[in-house]
Amino acid sequence: MTKISTVRFAPSPTGRLHVGNIRTAMFNWLFAKPDGVFVLRLDDTDHERSTREFAKGIVEDLTWLGITPDRIERQSDRFDAYEKAARQLRDAGLLYPCYETPDQIERSRKRLMARGRPPVYDRAALMLTDDERAALEAEGRKPHWRFLLQNFANNPFETTRTDVTFDDVYRGEQVVDLASMSDPVLRREDGTWLYTLPSVVDDRDMGITHVIRGGDHVANTGVQIALFRALGVENIPTFGHHNLLTDSEGEGLSKRKESVSIQQLRQNGYEPIAVTSLSVLTGTDKDVVTLADTDALREHFQSAKVSKGPARFNEQELNALNERVLHAMPYSVAQAGLRAAGVEVSDDAWALFRENLTKFSDIVDWAPVIDGTVSPAIEPEDRDFIAQALEELPAAPWDHGTWSAWTGALKNSSGRKGRTLFMPLRKALTGREHGPDMGALLPLIGPELAHERLADAL
Ligand code: GLU
Repeated sequence: MTKISTVRFAPSPTGRLHVGNIRTAMFNWLFAKPDGVFVLRLDDTDHERSTREFAKGIVEDLTWLGITPDRIERQSDRFDAYEKAARQLRDAGLLYPCYETPDQIERSRKRLMARGRPPVYDRAALMLTDDERAALEAEGRKPHWRFLLQNFANNPFETTRTDVTFDDVYRGEQVVDLASMSDPVLRREDGTWLYTLPSVVDDRDMGITHVIRGGDHVANTGVQIALFRALGVENIPTFGHHNLLTDSEGEGLSKRKESVSIQQLRQNGYEPIAVTSLSVLTGTDKDVVTLADTDALREHFQSAKVSKGPARFNEQELNALNERVLHAMPYSVAQAGLRAAGVEVSDDAWALFRENLTKFSDIVDWAPVIDGTVSPAIEPEDRDFIAQALEELPAAPWDHGTWSAWTGALKNSSGRKGRTLFMPLRKALTGREHGPDMGALLPLIGPELAHERLADAL
């Protein structure tokens, strides 16, 4: 039996989600479902920037996209667990207090770089005696806390190459050398947590089997695996890092950029499946095809190869995909949207109009063509022709052949052909210059309304 996977999507509620976040959410969702568990973890340890409003917005955005978390967890509810883990590390001598100011840290970084050395923290704080520490504390200095990476044999000042190797779901074998990095700060002077330790403690306590996230976390994963080990965790999750999305100019996405926020895309009338498909399929070896729903996306995406480098999310492509989704949307799928828009159209009418939709909401303008009011504007030079067309309007019942019979007869009687024959009729009957095939549309308009409109146009 294959093990059921438990995944988590872990945004911080400091803004609304953008397509880059959705790529991560969907990679997790498609990976775990239908059988696995999807946890939404709100990384809200930053009191100042995290808000309930944003947390609500994240759930709203996910729901709209068809992601309904099995569980919602908040890091702000779990400070006790982080405290306990920190104590465990500290007792093991793996978490130590440091008193350098940001300024001092920056200066020593610069010094090292000027000497062509990697800017790795020198662990000077480990040299402090108890008295020196007490003196610093007496001055009112508060420590930040670093995790002592196990990248040495006996002497922490003599590090040796220490590879952490993991088999990435998307990238294959990855190697992170713990000697190439500074001991990470796990806790700040003010007692707040950086993301590293809480994330590991949560993954452990929540039974996360797969950590799927953006490629910017590969180096973190080296540190986090070291932390799992330091905490004695046996079931370390499997990791997968997908490539990141950029905007169409190649710039990184951020929560501050309105143009790609899910909320904005929703307001702009895009279909959720167009948004999810494009956020998932961009930057993979799979074509961006038109898919009916998330199940179809899962199937299409199943054996996808994910590219290494960042990939551009292109809104032009979203427009094109959105149209294709609408043009193929079955009546049964459209129902909910039609109800929400307060529009009643028949199955036949939907099949005709959907091909003219750029956004779903355009249906509101099309529906009246069949049973409402349109403005049948025509040019003065077409008046006589429309009068004649009215006279020659075929008798009921109408079917798909009515239009060609009528226009065929009008062609002979008026001597008009092509655009001059068809356009005035289309404009008088629909109030528009473009639209669905008139042969299919005319019987839906029906003799009575057609008569009325032609007469009104005169
Ligand atoms: N809150 C972190 C982020 O948004 C989570 C990273 C992770 O998935 O572990 O970058």
